[in-house]
Amino acid sequence: MIVVMEENAGEALVQRVIDRMVDLEFTVHRSTGLVHTVLGGVGPEDRIDPKEFEVMEGVKEAHRIISPYKLANRHFRPGGTVVKVGKVEIGGSEMVLMAGPCSVESREQIRRCASIVAEAGGRVIRGGAFKPRSSPYSFQGLGEEGLQMMREAADEFGLLVISEVMDSTQIPLMVRYADILQVGARNMQNFNLLRELSKIRKPVLLKRGIAATIEELLLSAEYLLSGGNYEVILCERGIRTFETYTRNTMDISAIPVVHKLSHLPIVADPSHGTGRRDQVIPMARAAVAAGADGLLVEMHPDPDRARSDGAQSLRPEQLTELAQQLRVIASAVGRTL
Ligand code: PEP
Ligand code: MN
Repeated sequence: MIVVMEENAGEALVQRVIDRMVDLEFTVHRSTGLVHTVLGGVGPEDRIDPKEFEVMEGVKEAHRIISPYKLANRHFRPGGTVVKVGKVEIGGSEMVLMAGPCSVESREQIRRCASIVAEAGGRVIRGGAFKPRSSPYSFQGLGEEGLQMMREAADEFGLLVISEVMDSTQIPLMVRYADILQVGARNMQNFNLLRELSKIRKPVLLKRGIAATIEELLLSAEYLLSGGNYEVILCERGIRTFETYTRNTMDISAIPVVHKLSHLPIVADPSHGTGRRDQVIPMARAAVAAGADGLLVEMHPDPDRARSDGAQSLRPEQLTELAQQLRVIASAVGRTL
């Protein structure tokens, strides 16, 4: 149930509506927008008539949310969510560039990446310390040592850190080193992990699963929101289709669809979305044109020697050139970079 308060409704009136919702067995989530306070009630929606709230003083309107995701629904925050991480805002007017290697491999490698990302105008360095590899024989990541190296490099160049958390036992470690915790495609429906991440107060970037519908992605986000973590960034990273030329099929249309259905920001990962360096650049451009709030791009100083995902990692000069192009596209769609 969504209850939108009148513009001038004071705290006492808001509280009275919250109390009524709680009496009727709703769990209430509050969103304070620039103009209206919106109360999102999760509970016995089917049994309760929205009029129950509409007649209350200070209420502008109330309606049932038909979709299965309630708090991720755009109705909950019509103005959109801006996730603030330090000085960076994701979902605001800036299109946020996040780039770096697939995996942290060495101090020198990640430092070099940080310098290139910062130089290109990126705000966040990416890099896996715990890697979800399809084969158990592939490089699994440097673990805590890798996180330490990435933190140092990020601090030196004024960047934020995003890294993947694979398991809930890793959360305390990740929280210590990373600014944004990434949930990988393979874990999008790891509901225990999502529940644990809903309790922390750090942003989570939730990647779409390879066979997940947009609705399933939003329901996974709902796990985070309903547990109290509202700092959620979605990520389109390609889905599996019958096409085999590319590693995955980059679903650019998911970007405007998510913007329509949800208030959460969405970024695009054209690296995993295509799996091929030559296709990353056009898909990155397309994602920004489609309104992506950010880009997550793999870049390696020496991709031919990368320990993971070298084929889809941009060369440094390609990232620099891409950033220049993106600036033009971003401005054409009312954004900055
Ligand atoms: C990654 O970002 O390195 C990664 C493993 O991505 P995904 O979960 O989308 O495969
Ligand atoms: Mn990768």
